[in-house]
Amino acid sequence: MAIVPDLLQVKDLRKTFAAKRGLFSRNRRAVHAVDGVSFSLGTGETLGLVGESGSGKSTLGRLMLRLIDPTAGSVQLEGRELTTLSPAQVRAMRSDIQMVFQDPYGSLDPRKTIATTLAEPLKVHGTWTPESSARIRETMLRVGLNPDHAERYPHQFSGGQRQRIGIARALMLNPKVLVLDEPVSALDVSIQAQIINLLKALQRERGLSYVFIAHDLAVVRHVSDRVAVLYLGKIVELADRDTLYGNPAHPYTEALLSAVPHPDPDAAQARRPIIAIGEIGSATQLPSGCRFHPRCFRARALAGGAPGAVPEVCQREEPVLQARPAGGFVACHFPEPVRSLSPDSTEH
Ligand code: ADP
Ligand code: MG
Repeated sequence: MAIVPDLLQVKDLRKTFAAKRGLFSRNRRAVHAVDGVSFSLGTGETLGLVGESGSGKSTLGRLMLRLIDPTAGSVQLEGRELTTLSPAQVRAMRSDIQMVFQDPYGSLDPRKTIATTLAEPLKVHGTWTPESSARIRETMLRVGLNPDHAERYPHQFSGGQRQRIGIARALMLNPKVLVLDEPVSALDVSIQAQIINLLKALQRERGLSYVFIAHDLAVVRHVSDRVAVLYLGKIVELADRDTLYGNPAHPYTEALLSAVPHPDPDAAQARRPIIAIGEIGSATQLPSGCRFHPRCFRARALAGGAPGAVPEVCQREEPVLQARPAGGFVACHFPEPVRSLSPDSTEH
């Protein structure tokens, strides 16, 4: 199915939490969880969203569904602004955009049967009819569950089956967009593949659009048309899948990819060393200039390798996302790997 652009448009979205400084402190400090994010999603498209734990992926997902309110910015679905909807309008909007969580056990009510859980969205939306039981059976069947198990409780299912229940629940209202927050991260590798194949088949059949959040870059490569890399609340690189994985421009992307096993172990890229960049920085005290500069091996190499030294521009100026000649967008003052910036390769 051809991708129609701009089904969903996110513009300069921000979320700042007020977090307590300490257990007994009254001081609050700002956590810049999502700090000016823009992207679009087309019909039938999968946008992968990657970044280390704490980079703001879940917050971004929750903002898109209005599970939490943004501090600033805009989310539009088919041109309709979602950030200013009333609570009743938000409920109605949920028939178009739904979320699937990492831990289906945590998001399923242990006291409710699967039939009750799947009926709930229809009841909340006032679209429940006696024929809806048949829909529940059909949906269970489609996601690979035995409809005869509809009266069972979550604990009677395996982890993979519970994720199928989570997907079935998200599908009950026929949404256009699914935000999948680490949907396979808690599952064994063999089960991961089954769930991913199910999601791909559902996407083809129904023209669904996915925002697929994961910290596992190998999984994201498998499912995504385009990929956005998030670092401390900002997109630092966004490109189509093959450009991002084959020719990453941002040092953070390069470092993340260096830790991913290459699909072809004999390829030159498979023998690249893992680039160690240490721990993620703090979302409460964002570094000046480029927020990645304290961890940036490329900036250090450019500054001659002295401890802590980086080019001044990296400490002073926040880089903005800019189009690359190779395709995609990158927010970096030196958006090419250092080897192509060596003195021998002077530009003409
Ligand atoms: P990810 O999903 O990429 O791991 P999150 O969106 O969960 O990242 O978190 C991004 C940042 O926002 C983290 O620093 C996290 O501690 C902080 N954060 C998330 N939710 C809250 C909250 N409700 N209150 C305060 N800080 C939060
Ligand atoms: Mg998360």
